[in-house]
Amino acid sequence: MQEIKAYGAQDKDADLKEMTIKRRDMNPNDVKIEILYCGVCHSDIHAKNNDWGNAKYPIVPGHEIIGKVVQVGADVSKYDEGDLVGVGCMVDSCQECSACEEDLEQFCENGMTGTYNGKDRIGGAESDHTFGGYSTSITVQEDFVLKIPENIDTKAVAPLLCAGITTYSPLNHWNIKKGDKVGVVGLGGLGHMGIKFAAAMGAETYMITTSPDKAEDAKALGADGVILSKEEDQLNKHKGSFDFILNTVPVKHDINPYLNLLKRDATMCMVGAIEPLEPMHGGNVIMGRKRVSGSLIGGIKETQEMLDFCGEKNITCDVEMIRMDEINTAFQRVQDSDVKYRFVIDMQSLKN
Ligand code: NAP
Ligand code: ZN
Repeated sequence: MQEIKAYGAQDKDADLKEMTIKRRDMNPNDVKIEILYCGVCHSDIHAKNNDWGNAKYPIVPGHEIIGKVVQVGADVSKYDEGDLVGVGCMVDSCQECSACEEDLEQFCENGMTGTYNGKDRIGGAESDHTFGGYSTSITVQEDFVLKIPENIDTKAVAPLLCAGITTYSPLNHWNIKKGDKVGVVGLGGLGHMGIKFAAAMGAETYMITTSPDKAEDAKALGADGVILSKEEDQLNKHKGSFDFILNTVPVKHDINPYLNLLKRDATMCMVGAIEPLEPMHGGNVIMGRKRVSGSLIGGIKETQEMLDFCGEKNITCDVEMIRMDEINTAFQRVQDSDVKYRFVIDMQSLKN
């Protein structure tokens, strides 16, 4: 086993601290990655705080991983030492159910393996509990490793592995195109990528935010307009006009005001709060045959497509770099909606 440095929490109330973890020795189809950067997703905070009730401690978060390949197993064909690669929210799935066969490993019927707080299928590590990217290296089978375009700023690519694919996939699935009016609710890590992707797909984009001071930034990110969701007159002005709304709000909230913004037959896709919401008024979907749906990250094939799309269109994330020992402050700032618009950890700060 390989002993490496990591940062994790021993229980829900503890700060994250430096710790040692053991990763499995290399299997023939494994790629060993020295981690350069890791993004800080709001899910890392939900997981550490046991908001979803499934936390198994210690938790080493991190599923927006960028690094260099430092070793490849004998059967690896897609990667060589020195390649710039990424790992997102999954490191394995059954690879034989109908979801996996359709390149939708995130919906694996036998359960995909989360990059952290997941149940490892492969074995050979100290426990069957997976540990994420707040660490110096990770060993992942090649099918769950992504190629990273080398022409875009490496530091600003890490959040594409979760925030990027989670917003790209629903926009792609609902076929967003020129002429569509798209709203993105919540200007955080996911929301800022939602705006960039919707704009890149040609849509007329609106940032729907609770924070008046983010309006200028929203426009700089590509929004054609901004709607302050606490101002009723602004909501009324756009009533019944949206083709699609992507809702990234991370906590329990009232979705009814957003449903009123949808056109007939239009969809609001939930990607944020995985918890009970405020009650939905049935009339808000019955009148106009509207839909509330949801989406979870994206499959490996679609994640690679998204990365290639970003390489072609030069799309990266707006990031604030931090050192590993600044993570607890960063967690608090994310919860205070005070991040522009994704923290990324420089993993060299854990090595030194
Ligand atoms: P984030 O950076 O904290 O951004 C969330 C934004 O939502 C905030 O900046 C804020 O934007 C808005 N917001 C916060 N509280 C709100 C409230 N009470 N009412 C209305 N708006 C509120 O979080 P993130 O990293 O983008 O993640 C967002 C959520 O998506 C998290 O719950 C995360 O776990 C989840 N997630 C899901 C998937 C998936 O596959 N479905 C993948 C990754 C993350 P404004 O200031 O603009 O209002
Ligand atoms: Zn995430």
